[in-house]
Amino acid sequence: MPIYVVQKHAASTLHYDFRLEIGNTLKSWVLPKGPTLDPHVKRLAIQTSDHDLAFADFEGIIPEGQYGAGKIIIWDKGEFRNETYEGKELVPLDEALKEGKITFSLKGQKLNGMFTLLKIEGEKNWLLIKHKDKYAKENYDITKEMPASIE
Ligand code: MN
Repeated sequence: MPIYVVQKHAASTLHYDFRLEIGNTLKSWVLPKGPTLDPHVKRLAIQTSDHDLAFADFEGIIPEGQYGAGKIIIWDKGEFRNETYEGKELVPLDEALKEGKITFSLKGQKLNGMFTLLKIEGEKNWLLIKHKDKYAKENYDITKEMPASIE
């Protein structure tokens, strides 16, 4: 199964980088407010540059003066399964990405269950939405409750 990682990045503005392994690279989105397990809360996800698969293991400091300077921790990591269907047909991940709707289930240490990334207006703006399933948790802020690295 392909992997995903969420890196908490204390750059000039604290954010979370959400990365999915698609087509032998890490497709990446910046989550200004991080992920949530609350299905009533839609989180903005701004698509950003792809990263090498090896970057999923990176935890450390990007030095001052370099792009993204600041501390990065691996906030969550695991595997995901593509659950993007059109009727009964599974839509391949690269097509789902192009079409602007990717549904997947996560199996991680913090995040679990079904999510959808849905493209909205503009070139890069998406929403990350938790489905209502047994892993959903209303009125709960997982980034506050579980702030630390999984490493
Ligand atoms: Mn970042």
